[in-house]
Amino acid sequence: MIEREHDMRDSVKVLGMVLSAMPMGEYDKRLLVLTRERGKISVFAKGARKPNSVLLACSQPFTFGTFEVYEGKNAYTLLGAEISNYFQELRLDLSMISYGLYFCEFADYYSRENVDETDTLKLLYQTLRVLAGNRLPLLQIRAVYELKMIVLNGEGPQVYECQNCGEKEGILSFSLKKAGMLCDNCIEKDSYAFRVNTSTLYAMQYITSSSVEKLFSFSLTEDILQELAGIVTRYRKAYVEHTMKSEDMLQQLEKGFLNE
Ligand SMILES: [Zn+2]
Repeated sequence: MIEREHDMRDSVKVLGMVLSAMPMGEYDKRLLVLTRERGKISVFAKGARKPNSVLLACSQPFTFGTFEVYEGKNAYTLLGAEISNYFQELRLDLSMISYGLYFCEFADYYSRENVDETDTLKLLYQTLRVLAGNRLPLLQIRAVYELKMIVLNGEGPQVYECQNCGEKEGILSFSLKKAGMLCDNCIEKDSYAFRVNTSTLYAMQYITSSSVEKLFSFSLTEDILQELAGIVTRYRKAYVEHTMKSEDMLQQLEKGFLNE
């Protein structure tokens, strides 16, 4: 059993996932945990780096389950956890762990304490499951995750009507400037707007409107996937004013895949 230094009346149970774990002092860790009940919280895991610590296994990124924490004045302290998924598969493969950490960093960027982050948590969990299942191309998992995360945070592109005149039919060009589609009559509103395949448009409509549970239940041909991923990358660079630290690693991996 875990040593109880804190009054249990002040402990709370939260469902969540560890986004990151930073070493602190000689034996401790500071975790960022994305929770259903409290949003993103910082949790101190005392002694978690000691080899025989009961907190060792649960104080790692991707760990998902119920965490029992003591709520102090300024921070939370980890008392114990019932882990339902360690996502062990992700830790065995360099590209999987890199993508997983990137997805966690993305969720970290968009989440806050004491804000309802249920959808963010669901999306991250679902995405890691698909990643661990190894059934879809990494490029697709990444594009779908990034676009949906941006949509959940209210910054997604408008893909159902022309962003200049409101026309719903024949919207065939994507405008980064207008953050969505343009029809042929309005294409001169953005000289950088570019044509997209209708299948790519349907994919974007599906991703922006479907529930998190159904997000990954479609497949794409290689050229449509490349087009979708290209649009999402350009959109993210235009609208997400932050570079993820873990993105460098992905770029190196993706270049490596292209050379194979
Ligand atoms: Zn128009």
